[in-house]
Amino acid sequence: MSVENDIKIGWYGLPSADFHFVDEIIKMRGDKKILDCIQCGVCSGSCPVNFAMDYSPMQIIRMAQLGMKKTIFSSNTIWICATCYCCSDRCPQGIDVGDTMTTLRNLAIKNGYIRTLFETLGNMIIKFGRTWDKQEFINEMRTDAGLNSITTINPVELTKLIRQTNVEKLLKVKEA
Ligand code: SF4
Ligand code: SF4
Repeated sequence: MSVENDIKIGWYGLPSADFHFVDEIIKMRGDKKILDCIQCGVCSGSCPVNFAMDYSPMQIIRMAQLGMKKTIFSSNTIWICATCYCCSDRCPQGIDVGDTMTTLRNLAIKNGYIRTLFETLGNMIIKFGRTWDKQEFINEMRTDAGLNSITTINPVELTKLIRQTNVEKLLKVKEA
């Protein structure tokens, strides 16, 4: 999360910045909107989890323009983003900041950066077909509340699909 990852000399001296990074984002997103940011801060002011981020959404957009990819990948911001799209709805430049956060997460994972929580959740989906294992006590509570039981998911089809997409490699899947 240190800007030292990208900046070795001076403010935005950028000797180790990747100037092709923004092109990578543009290619993945299919538009150049990220270049239109005017640093107004509306996205950061609208973000319900901005308080917990080490860099605000506005800063992340600027850092992306400047090629500071290691700092972005190491920051907690892209992982904390709740994908609520308040920022996207309000950006006066029409930038889909929320979706850009997803793009940045995808790029981070491709580059070998992943938070343990996401790795764990990915492994849970592969194993159980959902982000948690069905547990009997949950069904007992649901029955008591007059709700239907949660059905068991057979993750075989899902696992087949995941194997074909190479997601396992990205998630460093642990054998059951
Ligand atoms: S709201 Fe849009 S224009 Fe304003 S800082 Fe955020 S991304 Fe940039
Ligand atoms: S989509 Fe993410 S960055 Fe945008 S307002 Fe919601 S939590 Fe914040």
